Amino acid sequence: MRLDHTADWSPRGCPHCTRSLTRDDALVVGYSCGREVVHFCWCAGCGWQGEIVEVHRVHSVESDKGRTP
Ligand SMILES: [Zn+2]
Repeated sequence: MRLDHTADWSPRGCPHCTRSLTRDDALVVGYSCGREVVHFCWCAGCGWQGEIVEVHRVHSVESDKGRTP
């Protein structure tokens, strides 16, 4: 079941088992949360449920570990 009317994209696969979320027995519901578009998903294959959010910008700190001089 797909009720997404809020975004140009939607998750296509379960992040837990990779089963398609475009199947009729999966649930993907998109909604806006501020500037973000959030997709609540439920996978009929493994039972995973959760939210997937498109990330527009990532801020991170670079670690010194693992760097080669
Ligand atoms: Zn799954």
